[in-house]
Amino acid sequence: MQAPKGTYDVLPADQPLREKIFGEARRILNTAGYGRISTPTFEDTSLFERGVGGSSDIVRKEMYTFEDKGGRSLTLKPEGTAPVVRAYIQHGMHKLPQPVKLWYYERMFRFERPQAGRYREHYQLGAEAIGSGDPALDAGMIMMMSELYESLGVPDVELRLSSMGDGNCRPAYVKRLSGFLKSVSDQLCEDCRERARLNPLRVFDCKHRSCQAALADAPKLIDNLCQDCQVHFDSVRKFLEPFGRSYRLDGTLVRGFDYYTRTTFEYECARLGAQKGIGGGGRYDNLVEELGGPSTPAAGFGTGMERIVLALESAGISGKQPGVDVFMISFGDDARQEAAIILHRIRGLGLIADTDYAGRSVKGQMKQANRLGARLAVIIGEDEVAAGRATVRDMESGRQSAVAFASVAEWIRERLA
Ligand SMILES: [Zn+2]
Ligand SMILES: [Zn+2]
Repeated sequence: MQAPKGTYDVLPADQPLREKIFGEARRILNTAGYGRISTPTFEDTSLFERGVGGSSDIVRKEMYTFEDKGGRSLTLKPEGTAPVVRAYIQHGMHKLPQPVKLWYYERMFRFERPQAGRYREHYQLGAEAIGSGDPALDAGMIMMMSELYESLGVPDVELRLSSMGDGNCRPAYVKRLSGFLKSVSDQLCEDCRERARLNPLRVFDCKHRSCQAALADAPKLIDNLCQDCQVHFDSVRKFLEPFGRSYRLDGTLVRGFDYYTRTTFEYECARLGAQKGIGGGGRYDNLVEELGGPSTPAAGFGTGMERIVLALESAGISGKQPGVDVFMISFGDDARQEAAIILHRIRGLGLIADTDYAGRSVKGQMKQANRLGARLAVIIGEDEVAAGRATVRDMESGRQSAVAFASVAEWIRERLA
């Protein structure tokens, strides 16, 4: 048997690096006042149709949608923002002091072509700040992501920044863009022609060189912002200035969801080749209202665990499993009893301790202690039981000490401190 296509197992050796990434993200988000939220693995399909947008690739092609035994249409969540906004509305969080700042670490599901670092089930870390239109918030989120990548050591990180305007300036721009796309229609791929019809902004996502060449002279939204959007965008940039974070203004940066407004940003790791995006986010001032809540500005970001892992591995950064502190070696029934009690005490003191569960000989147990890299071995045989004292062996020096059963756990803790 094999795991389903596009899925993977996270084995124990893969966990330490992931835990480090998770731990750094949690530290950064907690210090910025974000509280963790968990939402269900599946939601009503309509949440994503309304929230992500019916014309998006995600809704049209990539969702795992199924009918449950009660005849409801449900979907495994393909992204993290719509569920968090749903929870914000459902729990009346608009009555709390604003903005409400939430973060999550969850599994997402998309039916995509599997490739390096892209899976059909993947882990995403994200944050949402709902209830503020303040440009300082956008800049703060950008800097949190920068800090995360920097503190982890992700190499060659580049930031692209843009604005997607709002309901005031975007419609007129989309009209201009549509006109332009008609004029170059014969140079566009089939996908782009469909995008031009359904959601013209998406043509900028196309990876075909011929399309990119045809779009080189296309009007860009960033050059067609209304006054309010321009002021907001200028302010975001001003808040970024003192941090010295370099970025590229990029009018072709269009996030894949319909709900984005104004600030959008994306982080790339140049080492990851064609699919180099590692995370991104932006403002979505209309989503809360679109999902049935009061008119509420908001911003968020998300970053894929697998992409960060790939980027770190490209720099030779890996995690390390903690080694065993103590291995218990015993022979004879009475000795095993005594060893079990001491093992429990040692673990209770926060040390990593293990013993033999495979019926090994004393020699075999000693070998196992070595294999696990134990720093100390505690040996209990008939003589030790009779004397009420364990033999503690330093695995590196080979030096042995006799220590009373009652105090051996504490003695070891002091020794290893
Ligand atoms: Zn505008
Ligand atoms: Zn194309």
